[in-house]
Amino acid sequence: MVKEVDTSQGTCRLREQGFESGSCIVVYEDERTDRACQVTLRWEGNVPFRLIRSAHLSRPEHYFSIYQSGCNFSCKKCHSWYFTRYASGEWMSPKNIRALARDYAKTITYWEPRERATSFHAHDLCLSCGLCVTEKVRSPYCPGVLEPDQVISSPQGWGPARNIIGFTGGDLACQPEFYCLASEEIKREGEDLWVLFETNGYGLTLENLDRFKVSGIDAFWLDIKAHDDAVHRKLTGCSNERILKLPYEMKKRGFVLEVLSLFIPGWVEADQIEKIAWILVKVDPQIPFTILAFFPEYQLREVPAPSFEQMVEAYTRVKETGVNQVRLGNIGIFARTAEQFEVLKNLLGSRF
Ligand code: SF4
Ligand code: SF4
Repeated sequence: MVKEVDTSQGTCRLREQGFESGSCIVVYEDERTDRACQVTLRWEGNVPFRLIRSAHLSRPEHYFSIYQSGCNFSCKKCHSWYFTRYASGEWMSPKNIRALARDYAKTITYWEPRERATSFHAHDLCLSCGLCVTEKVRSPYCPGVLEPDQVISSPQGWGPARNIIGFTGGDLACQPEFYCLASEEIKREGEDLWVLFETNGYGLTLENLDRFKVSGIDAFWLDIKAHDDAVHRKLTGCSNERILKLPYEMKKRGFVLEVLSLFIPGWVEADQIEKIAWILVKVDPQIPFTILAFFPEYQLREVPAPSFEQMVEAYTRVKETGVNQVRLGNIGIFARTAEQFEVLKNLLGSRF
């Protein structure tokens, strides 16, 4: 169990801008605790270094993911808690990130336009079965877009390698310099290497958003964890007040945006997910929205996964708001029978 530390003490880049600190306590050296920016970010002169747990071509996103240790949220349902709340990994500078991007760029097999610098659009390309390579036949569900020589193996399975570099795992957007410098370094390797930030949104003050824009970051995958502020606070340790305004602020600045919300029974159900969809539809009905099925993890191990009916209801209610691009994720968690898969195939069409 992580011990509480008073984050109102010491410097905080969010507090300096007039906001509440994150819920950002990280454990290091077995028992010691401190804020994520003190433990998983360090400066050598004017160069920031970030603790990186791993970096590789990820599935099903089909892009290069940089998994960061340390986070400004302490989500009860975090699936990466063992490295976001416990410091671990290798220190990397923006130039180290550039070297990773350079090596990855040599392996790219599919070039996306900037507006598809998302996880959402990965599913239009390949479902990661690998059959076109291993058996020389396509699965009946294959989108039929790629040639077999564009499908390669990675630690998480088969698929293309797209021209996207994603920051994922933990999130220290409250300390923007590392990401800004890393993005500039990546862009020196190629203007069409899109930089995507998977974020909880909490560090994205308007000032930080502007800095990210100048540095060349292209896209955000915004995880809106709850619509109800009290639930959000209980789930993550922080308010969602600023986060709910981010879709508007991000689109206004020309970022590519996709949004994700997790269906957690008893915590975040169809009513809240529908309200999030209403926010999106007012900004832009084309914002891609993924409703992901929760599975028990970390401090919510006793909470069950959503049922098939709950996920279908959430999807239907979101579609009824007018959001155009909607996906259901983690289908294997809530659909078990051939009949259920058939229903989903009819409901989701090409997004199945
Ligand atoms: S990790 Fe972010 S939120 Fe936490 S103290 Fe540091 S700057 Fe503030
Ligand atoms: S924001 Fe993401 S990485 Fe951070 S604690 Fe929450 S789920 Fe984990």
